[in-house]
Amino acid sequence: MELLRQGCEQMGIPLSDEQVAQFRRYYELLVDWNRRMNLTAITEYRAVQTKHFLDSLAGLPVIAQELGEPLPPQRPLQAIDVGTGAGFPGIPLKIVWPSLRLTLLDGTAKKVRFLETLVQELGLRRVRVVQGRAEEVGRTEAFRGQFDLVVARAVARLNTLAEYLLPLARTGGYVVAYKGPGAAQEFMEARGAIEKLGGETVRFAPVTVPFLDEERRILLIHKVRRTPRQYPRQQGLPRKRPLS
Ligand code: SAH
Repeated sequence: MELLRQGCEQMGIPLSDEQVAQFRRYYELLVDWNRRMNLTAITEYRAVQTKHFLDSLAGLPVIAQELGEPLPPQRPLQAIDVGTGAGFPGIPLKIVWPSLRLTLLDGTAKKVRFLETLVQELGLRRVRVVQGRAEEVGRTEAFRGQFDLVVARAVARLNTLAEYLLPLARTGGYVVAYKGPGAAQEFMEARGAIEKLGGETVRFAPVTVPFLDEERRILLIHKVRRTPRQYPRQQGLPRKRPLS
């Protein structure tokens, strides 16, 4: 896990030997389960450290700065990772930020089974794994408006994603979207949606992922108003007919 160690040092994220061991076990389980089910296309040892682990952690300095928290943050905030897949970015964030109360949400049953095993094997506490679709859980009392932090990576275009994520945040909370080179274009398309859903964009930060020569942007949206009751729309509408 040398790339992970060096990368975290570069980003100013402290990492204990115990945390490194958790990442190593994560890598082993990911590769092992991936032989039986398709969890991720990235399984090479170095690539997992950079494209999954460090990429997931690259949002943390931006988040911490906005929250006025040290690295790692100390406050036991409530977070949800929407469309987490094999656990990204949620699990890496949780490993380095132990007091985080994390919900992992994914629509696919087999991913949920992997995540349950992972959470148990890594000995992570205060992590809940939920199988469900964002546009459905976002309409329930138990999830709507409940989270300080709502994160997602590689789930949908921003205009669709905003409708998945903003309803889940509490007023005063934040939505954090991990985006690639198309971020500026997506942001232009999504401005109307963000506003309708009660969000206000505060940061559109370029981030450098150690050892990766790819453009990354962290989009930070502050939820400043309650999301109107009609959102999120159901039956795949956020994706089929994105808000504008
Ligand atoms: N965030 C992970 C996985 C990205 S793949 C990563 O960055 O590696 C997208 C994942 O989102 C898939 O696992 C898919 O099942 C899930 N997903 C897509 N749309 C969703 C929705 N509306 N609600 C819940 N999960 C969704």
